[in-house]
Amino acid sequence: MRTDRVRILAGLLPFVVVTVVVAFHAKSGAAQKAPTTTYYNHGHIYTNDPAHPWAEALAVSEGKISCIGRMDHVLLDCGGGQEGVETVNLKGQFVMPGFNDAHVHLGGAAADELAVPLTGVPSAEEMQKRVAAAVALHKVGEWITGGGWDHTLWTEKKFPDRQQLDAVAPKNPVILTHISGHVAVANSLALKRAEIDKTTPNPPGGEIEHDTLGEPTGMLKEDAAMSLVKARIPDPAPEVRRKGIELVLENVAKNGITSVQDYSEWADFQAFQQLKEEGKLTVRITEWLPFNLPLNDLQNMRAQGGTQDPWLKTGALKAFTDGAMGSRTAAMLEPYSDDPSTSGILTSDPEKVTAMAIQRDRAGFQLAFHAIGDRANRIALDVFEAVAKANGPRDRRDRIEHAQVVAPMDFSRFAQLHVVASMQPSHQTTDMRWAEERIGRERLVGAYAWATMLKNGVPLAFGTDYDVEPISPFRGLYACVTRERPEGGPKDGWQPQEKISLDDCIRAYTSGSAYAQFEEGKKGELKQGEYADFIVLSNDLTKASPAQFTKTRVLRTVVGGRVVYQEH
Ligand SMILES: [Zn+2]
Ligand SMILES: [Zn+2]
Repeated sequence: MRTDRVRILAGLLPFVVVTVVVAFHAKSGAAQKAPTTTYYNHGHIYTNDPAHPWAEALAVSEGKISCIGRMDHVLLDCGGGQEGVETVNLKGQFVMPGFNDAHVHLGGAAADELAVPLTGVPSAEEMQKRVAAAVALHKVGEWITGGGWDHTLWTEKKFPDRQQLDAVAPKNPVILTHISGHVAVANSLALKRAEIDKTTPNPPGGEIEHDTLGEPTGMLKEDAAMSLVKARIPDPAPEVRRKGIELVLENVAKNGITSVQDYSEWADFQAFQQLKEEGKLTVRITEWLPFNLPLNDLQNMRAQGGTQDPWLKTGALKAFTDGAMGSRTAAMLEPYSDDPSTSGILTSDPEKVTAMAIQRDRAGFQLAFHAIGDRANRIALDVFEAVAKANGPRDRRDRIEHAQVVAPMDFSRFAQLHVVASMQPSHQTTDMRWAEERIGRERLVGAYAWATMLKNGVPLAFGTDYDVEPISPFRGLYACVTRERPEGGPKDGWQPQEKISLDDCIRAYTSGSAYAQFEEGKKGELKQGEYADFIVLSNDLTKASPAQFTKTRVLRTVVGGRVVYQEH
């Protein structure tokens, strides 16, 4: 199971080491309610601030770091020694800036919480068993959804088909999404509800897979095809949606994530707004909007969602250039090595996208393009270049999401065009099992190439693509410094020249992500004036072996000075 369902009442946990809480300012004496200052002392604080890399104590007031440095500085110069102030003794524990996950799908993760969990299923038979169990809990005709299956873990390594689902779910429409999120399998009833039969043409940018008799197999590739079925699934009731989101937020806080850059549905954003109004938001969220919507709608959403609130706001426009490598839908310059009949799917027309991008950039939007294959990456760079040419220079920080396989000559273009590479180290851990099969040895040189990006001066922002990967940032840190499988190997790592240091990895995951959302200097470093977003860990990461990274426990997560998670 990727999601630990232990429920923690975030925010309701008592402070363990609080001495006294004062509601009134010690000096004023007047009955005016003043903000409390909290002092965190005796810590081993990794600041990610190159000018002062380590500190022992910090003070938090009004949600920001008001003072940080050596114990004596915080005690003597910042009032930390006063009677009656709130003090937390860190007892030498390791503290660092909270992680800022630059690419998540909280809405998708929330839906997973309520759907059939298929992550890690070892065979198609086991997947059938879980669907059968779900059928027993649903009324005839009710939709059953699920996600997380990965055929590369199965012996036959083949996509499943509708007949396998029909065998266990003849009377419920079923759709089960692949771990990549880019393909899905539906049963016959789901196809029927979506009016898909052998005569249905492929939608632009998507594919309905057919068998040798011309009948749909049930496999639907890319959003254009999957949405034919998914559009028929009734929306969850608002309270059901919210329940899923609450479970996800607990998981996020528990993993030491203090900011996320999220691409979910607008209804999810509205649920976040509700939670924020109730003071229950436990992570800062920047929400991306769908690039393909009419500009007018995007402007309205931006006006409604805002762009300034430190907890919740709208951000970049997310576009899809191609699919994913596992499902061979990532757009490559040359055919796949293990299936020369295809070089992937370009999910949108470059000319059309360029025109739309110029228009949206002119309206002040930041652009974030999903691009996995080397062809998709080149097209995204071409679009950004055309945008800059058409609209002139501006601090636009366009982003390529994933940037998984990049042609060697294209790395320098990222830097020239000031494009942020928003990458997910743990994808490398997952994909190295089959990446060489898919694209061959030669093209691996430009794959998951973090060190090459840094060498070329490309700004990096790291994340997980949660719910595609688990949200744990420690898996990402492990990938950065080892490029090995979780259990170890290959020796010295896979394409080891692309390993990066722990410091660089943490930077990409904190201040790098902040830069990608125009919030550098506000968060990502533990520094006077920045948000008090930090975490307390069970391990000193700078001393721990990489194998210990993934065993690291978050003891406490603090966002804006508020404790949003604390280990029992
Ligand atoms: Zn993506
Ligand atoms: Zn994604």
